[in-house]
Amino acid sequence: MTINTASATVQKAANTYLVPGFEKASFPVPTDLLVGDAWVPGSGGKRIDILDPATGGVLTSVADATVADGMAALDAAEAAAAGWAATPPRARAVILQRCFQAIVDNVDWLAQLIALENGKALPDARGEVLYAAEFFRWYAEEAVRINGDLSIAPAGGNRIMVQYQPIGISLLITPWNFPAAMATRKIAPALAAGCTCILKPAEETPLTALAVGEILRQAGVPAGVVNIVNTSDPASVCSAILRDRRTRKLSFTGSTEVGRILLREASYNVINSSMELGGNAPFLVLDDADLDAAIDGAMIAKMRNAGEACTAANRFYVQEGIYPAFVEKLVEKMGALKMGAGTDAASQCGAMINRAAIDKIETLVNDAVAKGASVRLGGKTPEGAGFFYPPSVLADVSLDADLLREEIFGPVAAVVPFAHVEDAVRMANDTEYGLAAYVYTENMKLGLQLAERLEYGMVALNRGLVSDPAAPFGGVKQSGLGREGAHHGLLEFTEAKYIAVNW
Ligand code: NAD
Repeated sequence: MTINTASATVQKAANTYLVPGFEKASFPVPTDLLVGDAWVPGSGGKRIDILDPATGGVLTSVADATVADGMAALDAAEAAAAGWAATPPRARAVILQRCFQAIVDNVDWLAQLIALENGKALPDARGEVLYAAEFFRWYAEEAVRINGDLSIAPAGGNRIMVQYQPIGISLLITPWNFPAAMATRKIAPALAAGCTCILKPAEETPLTALAVGEILRQAGVPAGVVNIVNTSDPASVCSAILRDRRTRKLSFTGSTEVGRILLREASYNVINSSMELGGNAPFLVLDDADLDAAIDGAMIAKMRNAGEACTAANRFYVQEGIYPAFVEKLVEKMGALKMGAGTDAASQCGAMINRAAIDKIETLVNDAVAKGASVRLGGKTPEGAGFFYPPSVLADVSLDADLLREEIFGPVAAVVPFAHVEDAVRMANDTEYGLAAYVYTENMKLGLQLAERLEYGMVALNRGLVSDPAAPFGGVKQSGLGREGAHHGLLEFTEAKYIAVNW
């Protein structure tokens, strides 16, 4: 396969639309579909409006893919599949390294784009872009280490040879809350493993994925290796792709509810599926914790992305001795955050994604208050345009509040006191989710013992951030199947081939 090394040729489709305010971007932000080597308008001629969460107004529109467009993307992925799988790992790694650099080089305006379409504050958006880029660097390094095994059969004689081959054409479906990072966390390992792919970004935030798609093209990813289809009808388009026997992998990040639907779709052709689903993270603070460190960690775990993260701390269980001081300091720190449009450099807490997100937060807060929670900060939707909800702290939340069972996905901290560590473990594990949990204690032995007992795929000990491209990200129970990041994430896009060798 020829590797396209062109760095500045941008093919501009007739109706490629410059997103207002992005004249400084190194190319016009695409708003069509990426199929093979071209940006194409949807075959149905329809477009999807993209809203600005800070105003509620329409920002721009993107092409709306039909099932036929999804099939065209699959054709393009198929046409590129054999060549990409046969491209030497080192050559794939060189391209991935270029993708890393190209994303980093474009960090400023990409962060602006994320802040604009997702609503998150610029520091969060910038952090996301750099995190997103890191997956390319990590998987550039992993692409050349897809090692197999050779062993002697226990009975002697035969040799058992195991080789990891690319699994094949992959459908990647991503949510709106990290529009760059959730895409690169899938694309980078898929490409490193030698797979071609079709990315289906969230309807709310396709611009970032489209911009990343163009950056990857310019960095030398060959035509057809990455295809991108935005659609207002994800069920039909994704179902058609999953029911086509050429598709061999589904990698999904989103809600548990949609994950269940997709697992059923994937069962039709028994397609290998990775699922990164919802969370309901507990944050445990023991009496002996370093209060300032616990507050700093809480601010990251709760307020990164204004709480719109699957790893966001949803429930704070705080031991009685430290409880009053913890609540007081949390109120002080969260109350000092400036809420405003993500693109405003002064904002620290951006807008929620849409009206439905505000409605959900209001319902959960009202339920908690009706059941006895005391509102120590915020707790009320402000008047005015845009989808804003203020940083809020609810103390003494009662154990039957819905907020302790459902992801709030917003800047609301629910705090519950506990007496004994055993109570905290029981309450923390009392959920169908199992993505991330946080523990603050100065007793490392106890902290490690708690980490083992918490039924979560990831536990952060005296840290407010778990995500790291070099670590296996993923959940247990109804938070998902499989892992992203680390070498684990690469193996998700491979299949073990066993070759029995007569000796
Ligand atoms: P969502 O499940 O509503 O949508 C996710 C994606 O699935 C979108 O691209 C959407 O268009 C698509 N989709 C919806 N219905 C579909 C269908 N029938 N067939 C095919 N695709 C379909 O989730 P969301 O609201 O975008 O994101 C928020 C959720 O994502 C939260 O629950 C959050 O916890 C979860 N999330 C999980 C992780 C993780 O790594 N575990 C990371 C980020 C977000």
